[in-house]
Amino acid sequence: MYTDLHLHTNFSDGTYTPEFLTAEAKRFGLVAVALTDHDTIEGCDRMKVACDNVGIEFIAATELTAEFKGTEMHLLGYFIDTKHPRLLKEMARFQEVRQNRIREMVARLRELNIPITEEAVFTLANCNSPGRPHIARALIEAKVCQSVDEAFERFLKKHRPAWVPKFKISAEDAIALIHEAGGLAVLAHPLLVRRDELIPDLVAANLDAIECYHTKHTPSISEHYEGLAERYNLLVTGGSDCHGMNKGKPLIGTMKLPYENVRRMKSRLPENHPARKVAEPSGTY
Ligand code: AMP
Ligand code: ZN
Ligand code: FE
Ligand code: FE
Repeated sequence: MYTDLHLHTNFSDGTYTPEFLTAEAKRFGLVAVALTDHDTIEGCDRMKVACDNVGIEFIAATELTAEFKGTEMHLLGYFIDTKHPRLLKEMARFQEVRQNRIREMVARLRELNIPITEEAVFTLANCNSPGRPHIARALIEAKVCQSVDEAFERFLKKHRPAWVPKFKISAEDAIALIHEAGGLAVLAHPLLVRRDELIPDLVAANLDAIECYHTKHTPSISEHYEGLAERYNLLVTGGSDCHGMNKGKPLIGTMKLPYENVRRMKSRLPENHPARKVAEPSGTY
């Protein structure tokens, strides 16, 4: 029995709807999935319905963009209460920051005489939590770039001409917020953060887990993070970070985390957490 705990939909910068993503999860035989859209949980209700319809266990989650000692890091929050008032209020604030950043980045591009408009990006994004990939797609649509990678390389990456810094919640506050909403806080794709020396401080800030398995991690990298998780008594998670099609193939289904990891996560939730009462999936796959 396998799961994928890192997935995006068109409620942030993924391209699949929650329903299509769920159908793909079913096609690949996954028994549990988590939706981890950036700074939003808006896709969770629809994904839960879709998962219930096909007998997949659904885990409500999000991926918060945070900062710790000057480094951006993504913190995943699993088993969160999607009705938690403060979580919703904070995420609305992050979404406003994202929207303002899009406006500023588009203004930079226009200063460079790139023919692109805010409206084009927001129409294409069609969500409350837009991000740089939407600008990249608008640049492709405007025939300025040929690929998302090219758009990031030429304009959108840190310190490139259209890049604008973004306000970010501190990792300590993000972990506390996830806990307040009943969830588990997980350091996403640590290889992309490249600051392993910060992990002990994150543990001191009550981090629960490391995402040891990720599309960008090689087997030896995953083993390295498994070792760190063991050393600090952290849980182990993993996921594909599927945003839709990637070089002609969907990423969902490429990363198979054993369901046992979900079982261990649930056992660390508070005694009265509703997710502890959810029946385990049955299956031999
Ligand atoms: P944002 O949330 O607006 O800062 O955009 C970050 C998102 O853009 C990440 O979550 C990735 O999905 C994507 N991304 C970041 N860097 C690159 C890159 N070099 N090429 C393609 N996509 C990227
Ligand atoms: Zn993303
Ligand atoms: Fe991420
Ligand atoms: Fe992600």
